[in-house]
Amino acid sequence: MSNADWLTRTQAALWHPCTQMKHLERMPPLPIARGEGPWLVDFDGRRYLDCISSWWVNLFGHANPRINAAITDQLGRIEHAMLAGCTHAPVVALSERLGKLAGLGHVFYGSDGASAIEIALKMSFHFWRNVGQTGKTGFVSLRDGYHGETLGALSVTDVALFKDTYAPLLHPSHQVMSPDWRRAEPEESAEAYALRAAASLEDFLAECADTTAAVILEPLIQGAAGMAMYHPIYLACAREMCDRYRVHLIADEIAVGFGRSGTMFACEQAGITPDFLCLSKGITGGYLPLSCVLTSDTVYQAFYDDATARGFLHSHSYTGNALACRAALAVLDIFDTDDVLAANRLKAARFTELLAPVAAHPRVRNFRHTGMVWAFDVDHAPPGFSRGFHQRALERGLFLRPIGGAVYFMPPYVIEEPEMALMARVTLELLDQS
Ligand SMILES: *Cc1c(COP(=O)(O)O)cnc(C)c1O
Repeated sequence: MSNADWLTRTQAALWHPCTQMKHLERMPPLPIARGEGPWLVDFDGRRYLDCISSWWVNLFGHANPRINAAITDQLGRIEHAMLAGCTHAPVVALSERLGKLAGLGHVFYGSDGASAIEIALKMSFHFWRNVGQTGKTGFVSLRDGYHGETLGALSVTDVALFKDTYAPLLHPSHQVMSPDWRRAEPEESAEAYALRAAASLEDFLAECADTTAAVILEPLIQGAAGMAMYHPIYLACAREMCDRYRVHLIADEIAVGFGRSGTMFACEQAGITPDFLCLSKGITGGYLPLSCVLTSDTVYQAFYDDATARGFLHSHSYTGNALACRAALAVLDIFDTDDVLAANRLKAARFTELLAPVAAHPRVRNFRHTGMVWAFDVDHAPPGFSRGFHQRALERGLFLRPIGGAVYFMPPYVIEEPEMALMARVTLELLDQS
């Protein structure tokens, strides 16, 4: 079967995510036959560098031998057992290791990122109810924040394109100023801007803490906002205020967890621990759907009771899937044996150097970098810029998907110098040409 055959069949049989299907007439999806490290290979044998880690999930490349081996071994033992009424070795070991890494106690599992958000929102609400504070039912999130697309998660998301159509179905939530430093005044530092944003969060809490269950935010990088980045002091301020006003802090590290921000978890850069930590995406190295929410002993204890209804009676069929947990354990092993965070610091410094001509390009605004994420805004990006840039990058062997006028790189951690040089060179050419 060739690329063309698969395209005909996909158009006839599938409904693709985040896609107006009619646009596929002009911009067909890339048919993927296999993967090799950071590369995707189509049915005609053409190779594309996966510059965005297959929607931010891949960490150690495609068809990684170590993750493959772990899953294969697990397949011969137990692929899945329900987690209500059963437990198994991979889920116990993973919970112990995640708890230790995050400094939080019990781990509750879901399947996708959005399900982790639903869990955190429901747990926070239910905690306040269990401790007798039934008025605390509201949530506050950052402007341009993204937390997923199920109804609860979409309620705290602030992306008009995804949200407006469904507004009548959503629970009202409040948005406060984002610390995204691109909006700072010309002479204002990222830190000063973050402090100004924190002051606006305080204004909100001072007035509404009694009716607010939690603040939910993406630490350091607002991904879907176009890789908006901000100073860690905002997180330190948010933590302190949440304590002072008795409001939970939910850290959505679904995209930035597992080393993406430069530290294992982004919250570490502000020296804080959230009340709820939501993880997914990179957790299995991009292999299998798995998500989880870690929370504090204080929260856990408020549910621990003889009364069934005081418990957290939420579930998903694939909660704590054994294959996914084994993949996640293999990922944590790779972090340890390869000292990935240190290796990434060197790679990041090198890629930033290679991108210097891109950063200096006259069409480039707000070049920014945190950990293993790089982004910039293209000045006066014309309508359809994202689609055109994607298409022209693809012709040159790069799989990139700008968000509006924001071009970003979020490569798998296994990239090496030649791939970094390719990304920098092709991007510069594309900027010169369009
Ligand atoms: C991707 C993402 C989600 C949703 O995860 P899904 O697995 O797509 O449901 C939530 N929050 C953030 C920050 C994300 O990047």
